[in-house]
Amino acid sequence: MRAVCAHRHQRSTVPGVGVRAVTPEGAGRARCKLRAISVTQTHPSSSGPVQFPCGQCGSRLVYAPGTSSLRCPSCGSERAIPETPATIEELDLETALAGRLDANATAETLVVKCASCGAESTLVSNAEAGRCPFCATPFVAMALSKRALKPHWLLPFKLGLEEARRRFRDWVAGLWFAPNRLRQDARAGAIDGVYIPHWTFDSEATSHYTGQRGDDYTETETYTEMENGQSVTRTRSVTRTRWSPASGTVFNRFDDVLVVASRSLPAAQADALPPWDLPRLVPYRDEFLSGFRAEGYQVGLPEGFAKAKTIMEADIRQAVCGDIGGDHQKIESLQTRHDKTTFKHILLPIWISSYRHGDRTYRFLVNARTGEVQGERPWSWIKIALAAVAAVIVIVVVVSVLQAVNR
Ligand SMILES: [Zn+2]
Ligand SMILES: [Zn+2]
Repeated sequence: MRAVCAHRHQRSTVPGVGVRAVTPEGAGRARCKLRAISVTQTHPSSSGPVQFPCGQCGSRLVYAPGTSSLRCPSCGSERAIPETPATIEELDLETALAGRLDANATAETLVVKCASCGAESTLVSNAEAGRCPFCATPFVAMALSKRALKPHWLLPFKLGLEEARRRFRDWVAGLWFAPNRLRQDARAGAIDGVYIPHWTFDSEATSHYTGQRGDDYTETETYTEMENGQSVTRTRSVTRTRWSPASGTVFNRFDDVLVVASRSLPAAQADALPPWDLPRLVPYRDEFLSGFRAEGYQVGLPEGFAKAKTIMEADIRQAVCGDIGGDHQKIESLQTRHDKTTFKHILLPIWISSYRHGDRTYRFLVNARTGEVQGERPWSWIKIALAAVAAVIVIVVVVSVLQAVNR
């Protein structure tokens, strides 16, 4: 079997990053023109043009979190990012799914694909390029060029690196039964600023349903029981439900239903990242990405919309139950038509630190808008065992003291 590679081979076109070809494992078998590359850090000015050069010293300007400016890491000079009106508000889903979008809506971008976890992200020259931000393995990555939908909007970083680091340290310090190694790793570990791709969907949903409405009523019931050796007849009231068929139509309008388009974050962590202040989205500009990584979307538009529909269905079911009324509801059939469905491809900012402990990777995420922390953590079984032994000793001592006092 011969695999045909659709990716275009790319030499390094990323400013400030030296790309050195090495022989990938199994490259011959796949006949893929991709090369495994190891990404090495070079000084921004030493290779290729700098994307946003500093007017004072020529270094690369990077986006300064919490501001609307680029800042020079070498000399501190600043440049305001021009405000742009949105060129694309929302895109029509039907047009996009039929592949009839304007050529302007997509772009060719160079991404690196982690050979270990499969995460695809853009390269940055001044963040740590030596390891994957998602799995903490040294970056032996595939450079590939992908045609993908351009992001339309983003939320810029609000929390800076130092604040993210502080939150990480505080979080680790607050952990009970954490291995000591973790504290050392937390101090030494790198934190990367990454924009995570998302889809948002707007839709007008019309749903026809059939089902049952249950109304409760009370009934008086007679029963007998034995009292002093005699059988006595008594009454009591019981609640029963009367079911009757129900059907109808409900209408729901959805705005900005958010779906994560990344597969690099565990679902539980990605789902816990909201809330996001989506009303503050700004039109996409390359400047906001300077100094940060942006992950490429791996959940495509059709799959993204399928996920959005399941999220919407929970609301629709609730609306149907409200429409049926009564004390109980059963939905037997539900058919929903989505009209005027539009979508946006947006980027949302997180700080991520992946740390390896034992043979597992643990991730720590900070929502770079709210500062909310999501972390996976290892447990120190030795500390837990010692604590359990200590607890048993305390109990034994307390019990023996009480017995001595009572004697
Ligand atoms: Zn400068
Ligand atoms: Zn990885």
